[in-house]
Amino acid sequence: MSKAMPAIFFGHGNPMNALYQNAWTDGWAEIGRSIPKPKAVLCISAHWYIPALAITAMEHPRTIHDFGGFPSELFEFQYPTPGSPELAARVQDLLNGQAISDKHQWGLDHGTWSVLCHVYPNADVPVVQLSVDETQPAEWHYDLAQKLWPLRDEGILVVGSGNLIHNLHTYAWGKHDVEPFDWALRFEDTARRLIMDGDHQPLINYESLGKDAHLAAPTPDHYLPLLYVLAMQREGDSASFPVEGFDGGSISMTTVQIG
Ligand code: ZN
Repeated sequence: MSKAMPAIFFGHGNPMNALYQNAWTDGWAEIGRSIPKPKAVLCISAHWYIPALAITAMEHPRTIHDFGGFPSELFEFQYPTPGSPELAARVQDLLNGQAISDKHQWGLDHGTWSVLCHVYPNADVPVVQLSVDETQPAEWHYDLAQKLWPLRDEGILVVGSGNLIHNLHTYAWGKHDVEPFDWALRFEDTARRLIMDGDHQPLINYESLGKDAHLAAPTPDHYLPLLYVLAMQREGDSASFPVEGFDGGSISMTTVQIG
């Protein structure tokens, strides 16, 4: 029996990582080389956070530049990887047709392409995005994701893209090498321990983890994609953190790999 694909949560951070080469992007590229090449990727990105569950089903998803205030070079960046209507249909099967099939509107947002352009630089792995339905509570997202785990046996790489800790109010804009905040280090430590123990319930109920959690995830968008990846864990699956570090003191760049 062939081995199941891992599931991976990437801390994407600054969209400029698409153009940079640094320890994080080197780590992402190394992941691409170290795991079996998937038939396709299903990506749950923090930046498709909408009041609906939707899935991209176009053959050629456009590169969406969903940000402002960055250099023109970043707006010109293209990641012309194909879509996969087949994978979209398979996900719909697993979700009993619950998602809106999107053939025209979305595409690939920077949560997806700023990371995958390093993992699969040849843009030769088809990518489908599933939205994060902002009307639903954390538990709903975890339960939904559990329906997707057969994909791991079908050669599909399930990716979550967000940040375990994402607080732009406290982010040190324009400064480099600032130390992470104490609350950020504490929350990172708590979350990693729970992930290593496979103890997901407190991570699903993260809002009850106290003030550190409120500072770590002041809005749910960048945190929830993590739950999709944790929901992929099966008995015997290891958890690891192949990429790590903080950006601007309050963004965790940690990657969580399941399996
Ligand atoms: Zn982001």
